[in-house]
Amino acid sequence: MEEECGVLGISVTQNEFSQPDIALQMYYALYALQHRGQESTGIALFDGNEIHSIKGMGLVPEVYSKDDLLNLTGDVGIGHVRYSTTGDSRLENCQPFIINYKNGNIALAHNGNLINSEKLREELESQGHIFTTESDTEVIVHLLVKEFLYHDPVEAIKKVMSRLEGSFSLAIMIDSMIIAIRDPHGFKPLCFGKIDGGYVVASESVAIDTLNGKLIRELEPGEIIIFKDGTYESSKIPVKKRISHCVFEFIYFARPDSIIDGQLVYDVREKIGRELAKEHPIDADIVSPVPDSGITSAVGYSDESKIKYREGLMKNRYIGRTFILPGQSLRETAVRLKMNTISQNLSGKKVVLIDDSIVRGTTSKRIINMVRSAGAKEVHARIGSPPIIAPCYMGINMASRDELVASCRDIDGIGELINADTLGYLSIEGLVKAIGIEKSKLCIGCITGLYPLKIECEQCE
Ligand code: AMP
Repeated sequence: MEEECGVLGISVTQNEFSQPDIALQMYYALYALQHRGQESTGIALFDGNEIHSIKGMGLVPEVYSKDDLLNLTGDVGIGHVRYSTTGDSRLENCQPFIINYKNGNIALAHNGNLINSEKLREELESQGHIFTTESDTEVIVHLLVKEFLYHDPVEAIKKVMSRLEGSFSLAIMIDSMIIAIRDPHGFKPLCFGKIDGGYVVASESVAIDTLNGKLIRELEPGEIIIFKDGTYESSKIPVKKRISHCVFEFIYFARPDSIIDGQLVYDVREKIGRELAKEHPIDADIVSPVPDSGITSAVGYSDESKIKYREGLMKNRYIGRTFILPGQSLRETAVRLKMNTISQNLSGKKVVLIDDSIVRGTTSKRIINMVRSAGAKEVHARIGSPPIIAPCYMGINMASRDELVASCRDIDGIGELINADTLGYLSIEGLVKAIGIEKSKLCIGCITGLYPLKIECEQCE
């Protein structure tokens, strides 16, 4: 199961100066992380005795009602937004995952994907553990419970972490304690900040901004931070693994106003646009983004190339998920509802069209055809990432290898398929330069097919 997710944790010490409604704060912070998962969401709060939760399928504003949130009391809590496209769209897989065990209550929220979860599950099952979901998150919970029976929390977590392979940024609640964990490779982002009366842990800093908080810093790869009684304590696991921050967070996934691995995502995407302009210049009248993911790079391309920025496509920002409509003509109506052209800006123009990435190629083809129908004379596609040639095993839900348009085609073949006059992808070097982190500290498996971990049937670096 591959998942894109956002995790959250809040720990507040109630005092006379602050009486925050934690559940409402969590609601707002999860709303800020909505882009990381739109399939389901959950909040779990500890009230001093037990864990209470709300979980459901759908977007944050669809799942929580104000009354339910106001009735959910507690000083500590964790939350989650989840998106999985592998068909496991079921309430049981909604997180946080909660269990009561002999010594207390545990809730856990996970962003990432374990590559050895099947092996661990088999081992646990042979010892009598019974699983209620297919998720790798439940495997982590069972391992934790097992270790908690014999060790203190930090020791137990270290033992569990040393057994997990793959990506995991975790927010865990054990009674009134919140624990944030980032895997030793640092695949997925995780940061923490100060809010009125306490602390917040989140996948992205935008969640902290939303709560009017202040980012303290990001967790280092392999770091464990425990928040309890108004303070926090950090420790690290000793194993030394290759740092491998996910490049796709910078290319597409994270919000441009987030700070990830020390870089403001907006700056990275603008630099991506500048690098693209240097690598693939073209004589054109306007630079136009595919909204929203191409906007920041289009600004960079325009600034560098001195070709004017004009929006030729407009996205309906109020659209939720549309149900699959029967018949081609209704489906086309739904596409138009999501994205429309501004033909006055495109008609008779040579257009540089900027997008962040091409995965299956269907979006680019559809959009280029729309831009042509709006009267564009030429369409030059410029893509803010190298060709995506291989699947992600670390939790970005892309596609299988044969669905990836670039896995078996050269650039000319892709350009032809998407109906572009010319097509230019950013080089790996250009991407690394724009991100500003050494290549040896990035996971670029999706663009090289070489992974920082041993994955069955794949090549390791
Ligand atoms: P396509 O080539 O039709 O698969 O669509 C690619 C576009 O979808 C990209 O330009 C991104 O804006 C967006 N995209 C890229 N990766 C993902 C993903 N993992 N989940 C959802 N959308 C994505």
